[in-house]
Amino acid sequence: MRQKLPKILVTGGAGFIGSEFVRQGVRRGYPLVVVDKLTYAGDRRRLLGVRGGYRLYRADICRPASLESVFRAERPPIVVHFAAESHVDRSIQRATPFTMTNVLGTQITLDLARQYRVERFIHISTDEVYGPIARGRFSEGSPLSPSSPYAASKAAADLLVKAYARTFGLPALIVRPSNNFGPWQHPEKLIPVVVLKALRRESVPVYAKGENKREWLYVSDCVAAVFAVLAKGTPGEVYNVGSGQEQRNIDTVRQILKLLGRPPRLIRYVQDRPGHDYRYSLDSSKVRRLGWRPEVDFAEGLEETVRWCLGHRRWLDGKRAELKALWRKVYKS
Ligand code: NAD
Repeated sequence: MRQKLPKILVTGGAGFIGSEFVRQGVRRGYPLVVVDKLTYAGDRRRLLGVRGGYRLYRADICRPASLESVFRAERPPIVVHFAAESHVDRSIQRATPFTMTNVLGTQITLDLARQYRVERFIHISTDEVYGPIARGRFSEGSPLSPSSPYAASKAAADLLVKAYARTFGLPALIVRPSNNFGPWQHPEKLIPVVVLKALRRESVPVYAKGENKREWLYVSDCVAAVFAVLAKGTPGEVYNVGSGQEQRNIDTVRQILKLLGRPPRLIRYVQDRPGHDYRYSLDSSKVRRLGWRPEVDFAEGLEETVRWCLGHRRWLDGKRAELKALWRKVYKS
């Protein structure tokens, strides 16, 4: 007989990575509860293909009373915390929502996890907390040196999680993934924004000369790593999750244009993002020791993502109106 799996409360489950967690969680047989404020970045349509197995509460993690009503009703033994303001450019335009959700919201979620005695709290952090690295790779013990307000708010959240583990014995673990990509990513982020603009034959903005490097992780691999940490990770520990597949942004952009049959002359170099980190790179041997391996090769994942975008043009186009004001500010276009 199949063992009954514990209930997981997923914050930010209507977001890009959180919704993939819900898809995989339901497939694995976990009962799931999603808490999401459904900000501009949250979208229920990401969960349309998921049949049953989860309940969605529209709630703001910065509001203790509404979040507590979910904990009281559901009493989840596990919390996986994805909810965040996640876009660096927006944090440069206005940092307050980042400090509110990523710092205060995390602290409120931690308080409730403690009060309701959760048995595992998985906090989803980011490689950006380490800042840039010219050579070599960051290990979990590397110092935190965030550059953007987004990265600083995530680093602050990490420190709160560590403090709750030490002070209150909360069984919390931190996962630090590298840049994710894949289906359902909001077109404010590099890969889908390039697809969206190229499809419309609009100029494709690239910061500086596009020399910045990112370590690309396919979203299903990222979520598989979160499940590995949930099953086998040690409370109090941090786990880097990277694919080892590094790319210069300009090469990524050129590959997308090629896949779409669009000319490289669409590329328009724009003034660099302030405080733009040149390179991120993670030593992920610790999570690999839990048995996790990335399965999706970058080129294959990129093709799959572009194919997905072609099949979801209306969804992507629907996000354009709201993005125009942001693009005017950050790309000066
Ligand atoms: P996303 O922006 O797609 O999703 C965030 C979700 O959180 C949305 O559904 C949004 O509605 C929800 N949310 C925002 N504020 C909230 C609040 N106050 N209360 C409740 N819900 C709220 O983000 P993502 O790309 O899926 O990232 C998920 C997590 O992974 C974040 O913590 C992010 O920092 C981290 N991360 C992302 C990447 C990446 O490349 N996307 C890489 C490393 C780490």
